[in-house]
Amino acid sequence: MKLDELYGRRVLFPQVDSFPLNDSRLQALPTLRVTSKNIICLRCGTVSNKSVVAMPRDQYYCPECITLGRVSTLDKFYHVQEPNQFVIPEQILTWTGQLSSLQATTSEIIRDRMERHCRQLLWAVTGAGKTEMIFAGIAAALSRGERVAIASPRVDVCLELYPRLQAAFANFPIALLHGREKQKYQYAQLTICTTHQLLRFYHAFDNLIVDEVDSFPYAANRALLYATENAIKPDGGLLFMTATPGKELIHQIQQKKLLVSYLPLRYHGHLLPQIKIHLAFNWRKHLLQRRLPARLIKELRLTLAHHHCLLFVPHVADLQPTFLALQRVFPKIKFTTVHAADPKRLEKVQSMRAGKYQFLITTSILERGVTFPEIDVFVLGADDQVFSSSALVQIAGRAGRSLKRPTGKVNFWVNSYNRRVREAQRQIAYMNTKGRRLTNG
Ligand SMILES: [Zn+2]
Repeated sequence: MKLDELYGRRVLFPQVDSFPLNDSRLQALPTLRVTSKNIICLRCGTVSNKSVVAMPRDQYYCPECITLGRVSTLDKFYHVQEPNQFVIPEQILTWTGQLSSLQATTSEIIRDRMERHCRQLLWAVTGAGKTEMIFAGIAAALSRGERVAIASPRVDVCLELYPRLQAAFANFPIALLHGREKQKYQYAQLTICTTHQLLRFYHAFDNLIVDEVDSFPYAANRALLYATENAIKPDGGLLFMTATPGKELIHQIQQKKLLVSYLPLRYHGHLLPQIKIHLAFNWRKHLLQRRLPARLIKELRLTLAHHHCLLFVPHVADLQPTFLALQRVFPKIKFTTVHAADPKRLEKVQSMRAGKYQFLITTSILERGVTFPEIDVFVLGADDQVFSSSALVQIAGRAGRSLKRPTGKVNFWVNSYNRRVREAQRQIAYMNTKGRRLTNG
């Protein structure tokens, strides 16, 4: 192992008594802290009861982060303090796109706060173009010789960010780290990784950006939050980005622990389409008899006359009955179903993009990331517990993404109103109020 692979990292070397390398920079750090009752993991922060995690001869381990290699009291981490040993190219930013004036203002605020190593949140509506707004901040950080990472809970977000960042910072090698990546780790000034990979870093980043911070599994995962804090240098900056901040982030804003910048308008300057709710009592029972709410059929017919759409259902098991019910109503229209484990998933999404299908019936897999330009969005059973309020906002945000058709219809059918549906409507209304103020003044 080369020494630079340990810069800002904690690498587990099981059961070592001494260092194999003679370099004064190399440190051995403890992996666990032992108290009278508990074991505290210094990699993921998990506190375990001693009796539960005991090994022979008074040794202990951490069960929580075991997929990264088991840490036990027999182990040490090898670590070298981050030296920021980078060769900085002359041309930093190779992106040539244009920001709208609103995007540019927000971008400047973010850049300034990154320079001061603040903790901040960019709350930008779906389709606001948030990635481009952080380029200036990243470029300035790189030019200062800082080490920067963009982390996301989702592999697909990392995979989507990588080519965009590589194009925007073409003169920088970028390390892409996630569980599916087979490439060997390389020390780089700019890193894109899953939040899970942050568990391997220690005081590495001068600025860390966490994208889609509200999404699973990050939001409720204390180990990942702990890893985030540890991956940043003690005086480093942290930027969260999301379209749908959860309670915890809102609480931090209220307590003034987190600065916030809003981008309530989409890149084309329009508001988010608001969700329209329709009641459909016992819809699943009717569906099994191949019947759908009459209003849904009517709205779908209106949409399909000029546009395409996505129809979301809560469960994979709902796909086929919905398909059969709609086949009776629309025998001449081309559509299909798609879900996460569908082997033809990419092919179907591609065909939808190419206009081969007029609509797709899908589960929540298409809530983020996948963009079709001019669609309406329908959700059958939006009150089902599989849809969190942030998922519902993301789903609604699939509509009205294009400049050609910046608005779109968002219709939800529910058995009954619930907290999550109301919260989604409330969040959209909140951002639209802010957006209206900007467009009117
Ligand atoms: Zn652990």
